[in-house]
Amino acid sequence: MSRVVRVARAGLHHWEEPCLSGTRGSGTVFFSGCRLRCAFCQNQEISRQGRGWNLEIPRLAEVFRELEEQGAHNLNLVTPTHFAESIREALALARPSIPVVWNSSGYETVDLVARVAPWVDIFLPDFKYASPGLAARYSAREDYSETARAAIQAMREATGPALFDEEGLLARGTVVRHLVLPGNLPNTLAALDFLATLPAGTPVSIMAQYTPVGDLAAFPELNRTLTSEEYEQVLDYLDGLPDLDGWVQDLQSADARFIPTFDGSGLGDVGPCTSEGSVLGALSGG
Ligand code: SF4
Repeated sequence: MSRVVRVARAGLHHWEEPCLSGTRGSGTVFFSGCRLRCAFCQNQEISRQGRGWNLEIPRLAEVFRELEEQGAHNLNLVTPTHFAESIREALALARPSIPVVWNSSGYETVDLVARVAPWVDIFLPDFKYASPGLAARYSAREDYSETARAAIQAMREATGPALFDEEGLLARGTVVRHLVLPGNLPNTLAALDFLATLPAGTPVSIMAQYTPVGDLAAFPELNRTLTSEEYEQVLDYLDGLPDLDGWVQDLQSADARFIPTFDGSGLGDVGPCTSEGSVLGALSGG
């Protein structure tokens, strides 16, 4: 991507994991575009349709500074991978004193992880698919699983174990998210098996917020939220993996009330956007 970054929203977000949201909120910056094109993307208005506003690097640095001034517990870079170099330049202009969070899809090279690790305090990757077939079906990336496994291991190696401050806020570490998709229990159980192999001190976050968005005619199994029976099976399986630590979302999180609006808020006087629409999402992540 160019050195002009594209951003859809910046602001305090209160629906991340408790160790990130704290009491004042996580300082999220939602970047437009994404290296994946997941069929079920909750943020497809910005990830696939490109809704957003162009910012020069100095203005991005100001946005970072403003979030810290508003009291953000951390600077949460959402779907940042394709703008890594521009973000590095912005951080060189305005390095916040709060932790920097790399909130990504997990579909990243080990080389990319090594390049961003010096200025990232917290990696917050997804591990979406353990199954290459499912990754091919929903994201056209059959190599997602092996790529993300290597990236996550590199992230964990770079940060070391999770470190929390005296208020219980995450100061450093790697937290891995997994979104449970309806009708795909074997993929989730296999993903949990992988997460259980990570070193101690790698918390996981199991997400139940999936909500159908957009045209899913080709994927009818995704055209509903999770059932309580499905989610119970996931939680029962988790009970059998005592080495896994972290958070599980309530099933009630699959609710449009938690959705941020991608309206350019927090970016300053940015003028009209070049694409329009609305979006569903809850936790910030890619
Ligand atoms: S779900 Fe995440 S990784 Fe997939 S297209 Fe959306 S933002 Fe990108």
